[in-house]
Amino acid sequence: MKWTQTLIPTLREAPADAEIVSHKLLLRAGLIRKLAGGVYTFLPLGLRALRKVEQIVREEMDRAGAVEVLMPALQPPEIWEASGRAETASNVLFKVKDSSGRQWFLSPTAEEVITTLTANEINSYRQLPKNFYQISLKFRDEIRPRFGLMRAKEFIMKDAYSFDTTDEGAMAAYKKMYDAYTRIFARCGLKAFPVEADTGVIGGNYSHEFMVPAETGENEVAFCEACGYAANIEKATSGIPKTAAREGGPAIEKFATPGVVTIEALSKEPYKVAANRQIKTLVYIADSKPILILIRGDDQLNETKLLAKTGAVAARPATPEEILELLNAKPGSLGAIKTALETSRLDDYWKRHLKIMETAVLRIIADERLRGANGMVTGANEDGFHFQNVSIERDINVSDWFDLRTVTAGEPCVKCAKPLKIRRAIEVGHVFKLGTKYSEKLNATFLDADGARKPSVMGCYGIGVTRTLQAIIEQGNDKDGVIWPLSVAPYQVCITPLAVAPESEAMKLAEKFYAELTARGVDVILDDRDERPGVKFKDSELVGFPIRIGLGEKSLAKGEVEIKPRTGAIQFIKIEEAVATILELVKAATLPR
Ligand code: ATP
Ligand code: MG
Repeated sequence: MKWTQTLIPTLREAPADAEIVSHKLLLRAGLIRKLAGGVYTFLPLGLRALRKVEQIVREEMDRAGAVEVLMPALQPPEIWEASGRAETASNVLFKVKDSSGRQWFLSPTAEEVITTLTANEINSYRQLPKNFYQISLKFRDEIRPRFGLMRAKEFIMKDAYSFDTTDEGAMAAYKKMYDAYTRIFARCGLKAFPVEADTGVIGGNYSHEFMVPAETGENEVAFCEACGYAANIEKATSGIPKTAAREGGPAIEKFATPGVVTIEALSKEPYKVAANRQIKTLVYIADSKPILILIRGDDQLNETKLLAKTGAVAARPATPEEILELLNAKPGSLGAIKTALETSRLDDYWKRHLKIMETAVLRIIADERLRGANGMVTGANEDGFHFQNVSIERDINVSDWFDLRTVTAGEPCVKCAKPLKIRRAIEVGHVFKLGTKYSEKLNATFLDADGARKPSVMGCYGIGVTRTLQAIIEQGNDKDGVIWPLSVAPYQVCITPLAVAPESEAMKLAEKFYAELTARGVDVILDDRDERPGVKFKDSELVGFPIRIGLGEKSLAKGEVEIKPRTGAIQFIKIEEAVATILELVKAATLPR
C-alpha cells in the first residue's frame, strides 16, 4: 500500500474528549474517528489491525473445534421474553420499531438466537457436542460510553456458545475455550490473565474473565502472587478473620450520641467506638423491595455480591425519604435491633408500595464477618442514639448470612493466606458455564442415548474484539505513539524513502523492497508522501509500524539503508542484505501459531 493511496489522518493533538492514552492514540494515529459518543468509524489502518485481531480469534476458535456462523443483529423480543432477559437486560437493550410498529432488539449478545437455532436443528445426542461462534457487531445502550472503543454503544464481539450432553462435557468445552483465550491474547501480544468472575445477568454458575492489567481499566482484580489466586473484586473473597467475639455480653443498652451520624464520628472522642466494633446498617431497594444490609463499620458493601447472593436483578440504595417512610428514622442513626424496628412503618410502606400485607417482613441480611459478633454498637433508629452491647445473633433477626464485603489489599489470600494485592484491569474476554438455563427456557433439548429427552448443557464465551484492539494500544505505547506487536500491526514494515520522485534512487529502491517484501508475505506500506523526513518519521512512530526502512541520500551513497525497529536503535545495513534482515526481524517477532 502506498501512503498517498490510503487515508491516515494523523493528529498532533488528541481531541479533548479523549481521556486515556489508547483512546488518544487511536485518534492521533488515524485509526478511528468518532461519529457520535460511543460510535466510531474504522479508518483503513484501524480496520487492518482489527481484521488481524479477528483473524487470530478465528484461527484459535477453529482450532478449538468451534464452527463459525453469523446471526442476525435484529432479534425478535419473543425469544428474550422466553429467556426472561427482556426484563433483566432491559437497561442495555436497544429497541427499534419497524414501519409496521413491530419491535426488535439489536443484538447485545446472542444466547437466545443460538439456543433457538439449536432447539430446531439439534435433536439427538449424536449431533453433540457443538460449539458455534460468530464475530459480529453488538449493540448495548451503555449509559456512559467512554474511553473510545473500550465502552462503546456499538462494538465487535466474538461470541461462542457450546452445547453438550453432560456436565462433564460442558466443563471440557469450557476448558477448551479457556485455553483458546489464553492463546488468542498471547498471539495478540497482550499480557492477559484469567480471574474468577461474577456471572451477572448472563446467569450460570462458573465463570472467568480475561483481564489486561491497566491503570485505566474499569475493573479491580484481587490477586495473590504467591499461589496465583485471582478474582474480580466483585467476586473476590479473602481469609480475613471474623469479628472477635467478646466474653459475656450484657443486655443491649441505649446511649446518647447527639449529632453523631457517621461511623467516623462515633469512633472519635468521647465515644471512641472503633469502626470494627460498629454495625453499619444500609437500606437498599432490591427488585422494588426494601432490604436491610448489615456490614461491619470498617467494611464496604459490594453491590455485585449483593445481587449475586440475593438473586436480585437490580438494587439501589434507598433514598432518605424512603428510609424515613420505611423505618421512621433518618440515615445516620439506623439499626436493625428487634425492638428498634418495632417503630418502623413497614406495614404502611408495604401497603403503599407493594399492596401485599402477607410479606410485610423486613428482610435483614448480614455480612459473614459479623456472624457471632457481640459487644457491638449500632444505630437506634432514633436521632442522637445508639445501642451498645449488641450481640448480633441475639438482638437482630438476621434472615441470611452472606459474603457481602469488598476485599481490600493486604488481606490474607483465601487459598494460601499470603497478602492479597489489588490492581486495575480491562476485561477483554469472559467465559461462562451456563448449565441448562437457556436450553430449558428455549427448549433446546436432545434425545439422549438412553432414550430420554434432556436439555443441552451450555457455555458461552465472549471476546470484546474492538476492546481487545484498544487494550493492545493501552498496553503498548510510548511518548512517540503506538507500539504494535507484529502480529496485529496495520502494516509490519514502513518503507520511508526521503526522496519520492519516481526516478530517484531512493524511490526506485523503495519500490524494489516493497515488491520483494510483499512477495514474501510481509505487510508493507510505502510512505511516498513528498514530506520532510521529520514529518514522515514522526508519523511512522505515531502509527507505530514495528519496522521502518529509511532510504536517505547519505546512507545510500555508502551502499546502506537504515533499519529502525519501533523500539530499537537504528541499524545501518548493506542494501543487498536489507530484505533478508527485515525477514529475520519479522520472523523473530512472530509468535508461533
Ligand atoms: P462490562 O462489564 O465491561 O460492561 P460485560 O461483562 O457486560 O462487560 P460481556 O457480556 O461479558 O461484557 O461481553 C463480552 C465482552 O465484550 C467483554 O468481555 C468485553 O470485552 C466486551 N464488551 C462488553 N461491553 C462492551 C462495550 N460496551 N464496548 C466494548 N466492548 C464491550
Ligand atoms: Mg463480562
